Amino acid sequence: MNLEHYIGGAHVPSVTGATFTALEPATNKPYLTVAAGGPEDIAAAVAAARTAFTEGPWPKMSGDQRAAVLRRIAAAIESRDDEIAARECRDTGLPITQARGQAHRAAHNFRFFADVITTLGEEVYRVASAQLNYVLRKPVGVAGLITPWNTPFMLETWKLAPALAAGCPVVLKPAEWSPASAGLLPEIMEEAGLPTGVFNLVHGIGEDAGAALVAHPDVPVISFTGETTTGQIIMRNAAENLKALSMELGGKSPLLVFADADLDRALDAAVFGVFSLNGERCTASSRVLVQEEVYDEFVERLAARASRVKVGAPGDPATELGALIHPEHYERVMEYVRIGTEEGARLVAGGERPAHLPEGNFLGATVFADVTPKMRIFQEEIFGPVVCVTPFSTEAEALELANATRYGLAAYLWTNDLRRTHRLAQSIEAGMMWVNSQNVRDLRTPFGGVKASGLGREGGHHSIDVYTEAHIVHLAT
Ligand code: NAD
Repeated sequence: MNLEHYIGGAHVPSVTGATFTALEPATNKPYLTVAAGGPEDIAAAVAAARTAFTEGPWPKMSGDQRAAVLRRIAAAIESRDDEIAARECRDTGLPITQARGQAHRAAHNFRFFADVITTLGEEVYRVASAQLNYVLRKPVGVAGLITPWNTPFMLETWKLAPALAAGCPVVLKPAEWSPASAGLLPEIMEEAGLPTGVFNLVHGIGEDAGAALVAHPDVPVISFTGETTTGQIIMRNAAENLKALSMELGGKSPLLVFADADLDRALDAAVFGVFSLNGERCTASSRVLVQEEVYDEFVERLAARASRVKVGAPGDPATELGALIHPEHYERVMEYVRIGTEEGARLVAGGERPAHLPEGNFLGATVFADVTPKMRIFQEEIFGPVVCVTPFSTEAEALELANATRYGLAAYLWTNDLRRTHRLAQSIEAGMMWVNSQNVRDLRTPFGGVKASGLGREGGHHSIDVYTEAHIVHLAT
């Protein structure tokens, strides 16, 4: 299979003819040749999007009209969800059952933002007998969307849907390690009747195609999801043109288990939180903090559960943990396993390639106990099926441990003490907190992190804010 860019309604190779190869994580064999975009391809895509913005119908259409197209996009995704899931499974190593869930969520993203744009309230302020002040929301222009390789199709649509709903033409630059599912977007957009030039897709390496998109003066907003260090580079490069930025970055989210919690459910959440999606989840609960009274029991049960997580071929419906995305990433995760052992953490489950999977990027569900906050495995995002467990005695200590990393994306709290919940909600440094529940999203709520986990929020009207400018009109009455 070959993948090309999609610019101004046409499938095109790179201007330079450059390509790169995508690997299948279950075997690490090359299986896909992909156009490798550079500054010329980005320039062509931005020009097409800019023309769609200045001359095309999309930004001028009513919210209802755009919503109708978005709903057709959702239907076109649903009619291909098996194919999307199969591509994603092969391309990323995600277990097929979980890839299917991501395809459903992608369709839902479009339906959801169709609803948001048709029901969005307006801001109006009246000064009695003097003035009416109202806010016009205007699409900001060409939106640059740069996305990561974990759950790629879902995360691409999580940006595409609100950008399109807001009236912005887009240039999407998918991650180079997972380009396959994005290759279905052109036919989906065409089938739904999206006007030509509104959706543009440029594949390529981050430092080439991504950097060119960030540097382009006709792209006033960049919505980025990826690593914190990449986010920092993008911020620096975007400063030249003073771009608006939405930054969804890395995490090292704590899951706090107090002795008064429902331990069975907390255990389910801990297993799901770090081993689903191969542990390649920004909001993974990768640090489990457990109160001393229940620590030994919790560690033992978590290790037992981890040992039962079924690691296997991504396409097998019985598989719970598939292949990690890429040999480079696999090496990085395995290096953290070595580091954890050298640092003196106690390996109680996993830590090695399962014997029945001699090739591909497979690792058993891994649990380190007795992890201390100074250890690198406590501090750094591993982004794989590796969890660190740390004991605490008091609520104050739990809070200190929870906040002891540079990240602040999510936190998960398991306790039956309501007053403690409120206290911790005030003081945990995280953009989102789940209490006695797993990572289930309400798409209307603000999604995003604090500290090194990001800037700004996406979700509901927060996403629309990213892609619109507020224009205030003061009207004398
Ligand atoms: P990454 O930062 O390596 O790459 C993300 C994207 O940025 C890719 O498309 C890449 O090509 C591009 N890129 C790389 N260098 C660039 C540059 N100089 N200029 C412009 N673009 C560039 O991230 P990844 O490894 O693909 O994804 C994993 C990371 O994403 C993890 O840290 C994870 O926590 C984070 N993530 C965060 C969220 C969130 O919502 N907070 C969600 C998913 C993933």
